[in-house]
Amino acid sequence: MKCSLPCVLGILLCSTAAVAMEPAPDAASAAVIGRVLTSPALATDLQRLADGVGGRVSGTPAMARAIDWALDAFRNAGVEAHTESYTMPLTWSEGATRLEILGDAAFPVSLVSEGWSAPTPAGGIEAELVHIGNGTEADFARVGKRAQGAILLVDSSVIVSWDDLESEYDRAVPLKQRAVEAGARAVLWTAARERRLLYRHTDTVDGELSPLPMATVAREDALRLARLADNSATPVRVRLTMPNVVGGPFLERNVVAEIRGREHPEQVVVLGAHLDSWDLGTGALDNGCNAALVIAAARAIAAAGLKPRSTIRFVLFSGEEVGFLGSRAYVVQHRAELDRTRAMVVVDSGVGRITGFTLSGRADIVAPLAELLRPLAAFDAAALSLAGSLGTDNVDFMLEGVPTLSADQDAANYMPNYHAASDTFDKVDLPLLAQNTAFITATVFAIADRAAPLGPRLSRAEIAKLLESTGLDKSMQVGGLWEEWAAGRRGRAP
Ligand SMILES: [Zn+2]
Repeated sequence: MKCSLPCVLGILLCSTAAVAMEPAPDAASAAVIGRVLTSPALATDLQRLADGVGGRVSGTPAMARAIDWALDAFRNAGVEAHTESYTMPLTWSEGATRLEILGDAAFPVSLVSEGWSAPTPAGGIEAELVHIGNGTEADFARVGKRAQGAILLVDSSVIVSWDDLESEYDRAVPLKQRAVEAGARAVLWTAARERRLLYRHTDTVDGELSPLPMATVAREDALRLARLADNSATPVRVRLTMPNVVGGPFLERNVVAEIRGREHPEQVVVLGAHLDSWDLGTGALDNGCNAALVIAAARAIAAAGLKPRSTIRFVLFSGEEVGFLGSRAYVVQHRAELDRTRAMVVVDSGVGRITGFTLSGRADIVAPLAELLRPLAAFDAAALSLAGSLGTDNVDFMLEGVPTLSADQDAANYMPNYHAASDTFDKVDLPLLAQNTAFITATVFAIADRAAPLGPRLSRAEIAKLLESTGLDKSMQVGGLWEEWAAGRRGRAP
């Protein structure tokens, strides 16, 4: 059921009969929902960020401007905010990326470097272009010695669903490994979006450079190159020039604001979203809209003059796109209070309607959470999944045993614009964003205002069991996150 904004507002604030059998929202929920739905600041904040600052890669001057935006927006919302610093291993920006086809079949190729890709050596790399199919083990076996010293071109499917996106990430780390072992010199990915739309990804999980130069080639150009390579009697030779600029360690910042609890100020509910974005577009869907959501939540609660039982902390993370660096740093810096952290709620899936939460295996919090969501039934957002979630800033909280709630959202227009030049303010459905914001604000307030936490912090043994039961252990191995957890360098100490 898709509920329009006036419908939600009407049900929650005016009508008592619309949602039969469910309790009505209490006065606090109704107050924050009403304020979110009637304030123009959510849209103006987002517009200032997306259009005024634009793309904001961690470690760049644009990110510093985005942090100023956040501090200013929190201040205007009536909530004091500060920054907390941590060290990123390196900074990165793209140079003049270029791919020349050597020989008669030359045509202009449109491509961009992958984020955090190694640069090519001065003068570029001249090599044979080897079409490696999907880059499976069988593909590498078929190509054999030809991969050595070559530039590999990898196929892709157009992404449409969340599952497609997940498999795109899942194959990247093992494929990169195979390319290194085969002695390839660079990897070119066929873009998974049509109409020559370019986007930037990375598959670094720790903010370090990729071991090989890697770039994404406009889909139509890549398909043409693949056909040329497949059908040519002689090898297709190309020159890849990618003078990416890599700088030294950098002090990056998270932005942190809070509304202190009236009864248990030492207990904390974290509402988080990442503020950083990629830079071809303006990071409106990923994740400017939800950074603005976090600020709007703070504004609504402050404006309503409400004090929850425990503290709500509003955190805008940096470094998410390059390996959850900001949330990982937050968890380390706040480790002493994680026993008292009631939950971490994160929103990072664009502007599709929120349908519920993924709880990463926390069966123990389903019942209390379902009870808490009943008065918010008009939002139709109470689907609770026990699946594991590895896609965003919840990861390090989950590995510390803190209950995490990752908002599930309709895909809406997320996939076609994901990390792409087309991720701009005009793609944001503002009424739907306001509806999501109202729902999240009421939910987070209710978690903080509850007499008791939803559930306990888990021990390391309990976390290990949960990783196994959700299959997160396998996903962490595939995604390159397992080693640090297993070695005790990441997550709750034994
Ligand atoms: Zn994101």
